[in-house]
Amino acid sequence: MKQYSLFVNGQWVPAASGRTFTTRNPADLREAVAEYASGGSEDAQAAFEAARLAFPKWSSSTPIGRGRVLSKASQLLEGRKAELAELLTREEGKTLAEATGEVQRAVDIFRFFGGLSYTVGGQTIPHDLPGNLLLTKREAVGVAALITPWNFPVAIPAWKLAPALLAGNTVVLKPASQAPALAVELARVLAEAGLPAGVLNVVTGEGRSFGAAVASHSSVKAVSFTGSYSVGHGLYQALAPRMVRTQLEMGGKNPTIVLADADLDLAVNLVARAGFGLTGQACTATSRVIVDQSVVEAFTEKLVAKAKSWKVGPGLTAGIDIGAVVSESQLKGNLEYVAIAESEGARIVSGGNRLLDGDLVHGLFMEPTVIDHVRPTMRIAQEEVFGPVIAVISVHGFDEALTVANGLEVGLSASLVTRDFKRALEYVDRIEAGVVKVNQISTGLALQAPFGGVKQSSTDTFREQGAGALEFYTRTKTVYLDYSV
Ligand code: NAD
Repeated sequence: MKQYSLFVNGQWVPAASGRTFTTRNPADLREAVAEYASGGSEDAQAAFEAARLAFPKWSSSTPIGRGRVLSKASQLLEGRKAELAELLTREEGKTLAEATGEVQRAVDIFRFFGGLSYTVGGQTIPHDLPGNLLLTKREAVGVAALITPWNFPVAIPAWKLAPALLAGNTVVLKPASQAPALAVELARVLAEAGLPAGVLNVVTGEGRSFGAAVASHSSVKAVSFTGSYSVGHGLYQALAPRMVRTQLEMGGKNPTIVLADADLDLAVNLVARAGFGLTGQACTATSRVIVDQSVVEAFTEKLVAKAKSWKVGPGLTAGIDIGAVVSESQLKGNLEYVAIAESEGARIVSGGNRLLDGDLVHGLFMEPTVIDHVRPTMRIAQEEVFGPVIAVISVHGFDEALTVANGLEVGLSASLVTRDFKRALEYVDRIEAGVVKVNQISTGLALQAPFGGVKQSSTDTFREQGAGALEFYTRTKTVYLDYSV
């Protein structure tokens, strides 16, 4: 079993309370993966203080120098790709192929921001008068607290950390307790790449006490959170009195619309990959398929056949399509949603159960599940499940499909399958979502493009990822220089 401490001011230290917690392999709960220091409020305060003290020097270094550290971290991470992907699978449960892709994503994110360091700067603006220079500078905001979920335990820390550090902020990172290993390893990699002590601190442990510390510590100037709506909403209220710059990216209930003219094999393939891939544990996973009634029967039949052909099992085993569910409470929640759907009159056409055959009994596995006869008012059509569960909703035509898709107070990713170019463009105009896909899987993002949700999926102010991610982590200073005098 691995053992991890808190990372504060460049030192590996135990929690002030001396308490620890352990993660277990969701594919085999008999295996303990790692033990962590259980950081509390006192540890968070120490980390914020270390970040505050490291800020003046780091923020006054050059972006190009900071970018070199990120590029070096990318190389070091790449060298450890296989080992870290295996650790990710052991702790979070996704398949090794998915974990390898995620570590590669982190490698690429650091490479991207390392290169971007040569472009970070302000703007020169024409002045009204001759002999005057009007320009903007981009400056770091201060200490940034980054709070991340378990489902992308390295990609999400990476896509927050890289722009935060490049911009010159110092950081305290708080990963989710279900799978913190990769975030802690990221700190190790960045330290090895030359990041000075105190610039990045990692506090593992309970979320609530960390949130309270963030709210009360006056040097925390920016908070970027990815996670559930309920936690994000509470955090927002706690930060409001201090008017802290806050970015929240939260859950969705992502639709894929399948129109009557769609290539059904393509549609089934996209929906299965977006709904069952990553064990359905992606914020952009398809969980509602809104299908034209003229093809709903044929579509559902093909989707069920696909679901039955996918292999569920330990993510480290070759040939597995769907890995373990991350935790017992997540699995319980998934199964409860299936039961609620049935009690509300929907029909479970495939799956719906925990898998307990053979060695699977030691882990947390669930059949890929297809539910049809779902009405938009049912809870299975409205609430995020975060498991391999797809609800099929039948509609009459494009307008009704859009009404159903837009009928919820969330809007993260939304996909459409059609051959009709006009409809596709109309859909892009009218769908209420931050990410819109046509004939593409609802999951999967380009790291060089902006990402974020609308409605209750996001604070909908700053976007993450791409070059624009630097906006959240910098403020603009406007400079007037008169050299005519
Ligand atoms: P969660 O909200 O339970 O936890 C997220 C993080 O917040 C964890 O690090 C947790 O320890 C911390 N936390 C808990 N209570 C806190 C508090 N009171 N103050 C401050 N921090 C606190 O979410 P989760 O279960 O880890 O992740 C799943 C959720 O994340 C899903 O809703 C999913 O849709 C969402 N998600 C969204 C995106 C996106 O980019 N929109 C990406 C991935 C996941």
